[in-house]
This record gives sequence, C-alpha cells and structure tokens, in this order.
Amino acid sequence: MTSQTKAEKIISEKKKRGIVILAHTYQMPEIIDVADITGDSFKLSQAAEKLDCDTVIVCGVRFMAETVKMLSPEKRVILAAPEAKCAMAEQVGPKEIAEFKAANPDVTVCAYINTTSALKTEADVCVTSSSAVNICKKLNTAKILFVPDKNLGSFVKNALPEKEFILWDGCCPIHNALTAEDVKAAKAAHPDALFVVHPEAPAEVVALADYVGATSGIIDFCLNKTDKEVIIGTEVGVCDYLSQKYPDRGFYQLAADKLICPDMKFTTLDCLWRRLRVTAARKSF
Ligand code: SF4
Repeated sequence: MTSQTKAEKIISEKKKRGIVILAHTYQMPEIIDVADITGDSFKLSQAAEKLDCDTVIVCGVRFMAETVKMLSPEKRVILAAPEAKCAMAEQVGPKEIAEFKAANPDVTVCAYINTTSALKTEADVCVTSSSAVNICKKLNTAKILFVPDKNLGSFVKNALPEKEFILWDGCCPIHNALTAEDVKAAKAAHPDALFVVHPEAPAEVVALADYVGATSGIIDFCLNKTDKEVIIGTEVGVCDYLSQKYPDRGFYQLAADKLICPDMKFTTLDCLWRRLRVTAARKSF
C-alpha cells in the first residue's frame, strides 16, 4: 500500500472530523487544493455562516479569522498560521479611532474589512472593497473618515464627489508598491491584454486599468466578462489560481516580485496538518 501524501492526509482527516477548511485566494496553490471553500475575506465569512459544522480552519491572516468568527460566533474558528497578520490591518487601532470620534462627532468612521475586530467595534460602519462606494453613498452623513487604506479611500472619494472624505494615512504595502511604470512594462510585453487591478493600488496605477475590483470581482471579470488575455494587478495567488484553472487563457502576473504577501504565504501543508491534528484532538475531548 502506498503511503498517503500530506495533502491526502489533510483531506481524509478534515472529512473524518467534520472540520471545514476555508482558504483565501492569496494562499499557495497546494493550500487551495485541500480547501473546501476559497474566495476573498468577505466571501469566506459569508460562506462560513451557512455551514452546518462546528469547527472551521481559516487559511489566511488574523483579521479574516476574526471576521469569520464575527459572522459565526457559535463556531470554533481556528487560524491555520496564528502568526499571519495583515500589515495594513494593524496600521490603526481602536484608541486612535475613539479619540478621533470624541474630537469629531459629526464624522462617520468607515472601516475597511481589513482591520482588527477591536478597531471594528469603534467604527460606525464596515465595508469591503466591492461594497465601499455603495455603502458610503448611502450614509446619512456628509463627512466620512475612511480607515486604514488611503488608496481604497481615494478610489471611493473620487466616486463620491458629493461627500467630504478624510483619509487615514495607511495602505497595503504590497499593492501600494505598484507603479505606472510596472503597468506600462506589462502592457508593452502583452499589448493585446486587458489590465485589471485591486483598488488598494495607488491612483496612478488604478487610472490605467480596464477593470478595478476586489479578488472576487477580478476573478469574475476574467472568467465571465472577457475572453481576452488579462494582466493581473493583485497578489500572485489570484493569477496562480486563474492560470491553474484555465492554463490556455493567457493570464499574466503584473510585477510578480512585488505582489507577494508574505503573511499570506505562512500557511503551509505542514502547518495546516499540525493545526488540523491539534484541533481534531481538542474536538474529541
Ligand atoms: S495583501 Fe495587503 S491587504 Fe492583503 S493581507 Fe497582505 S498586507 Fe493585508
């Protein structure tokens, strides 16, 4: 009898124990392969809410596991790699927001989903990159503080000139590293390709895009809205995912050396296997 691979052991153990694995699309392909559900942070937390199970393991960063727990408080939510944090989510804390609100009672505080749960308790409203414009538009207030991403905040501000925005000086260090020169070089190499980008990129990069959207939006655009070649301007996991699923389509990674989120790559098959075994052992007590 041949010995099982680590991936086979993970799949067998999670089924045996009734544990569901959620993986963000930025995870490594081998993690995506053993996951039950993949997607962006909001899609994962919404999917978890509907699951008929008592334990989920999240392959992603801390705020994603926190968001899953917020929508599914009755479930045990385990982060596969506990050291994985989002560099942007930590850039503003609840104390700073409480002080801002005390000094600016007429300003609505709008927090991006990429924030800690402690920060969210101080915010007035929480948005995703795909819902930010619509939700801010509907707010019954003229002044909005947008935290922590100045690039997404600036994208929302440009879409809603009727509102006054104050932008926190934070950003995703991964997407913020992109430049217009990166895009021009990729377009020169692939002149027939469309260019899609995440709104966490700087405005000069967003201005060159054929489509701007979050992870789920980018995947939907590439698969359902065009059959052309596409240059992908977000974390390498998305291009890996699309290229693996559709190897003949022509998906090209923009600035591959810049668009790797180290925290998203902390989860390995070894670490997921360890977490699964520990979680399963505790479950049987
Ligand atoms: S890519 Fe940026 S926003 Fe996403 S988890 Fe990494 S640091 Fe956070």
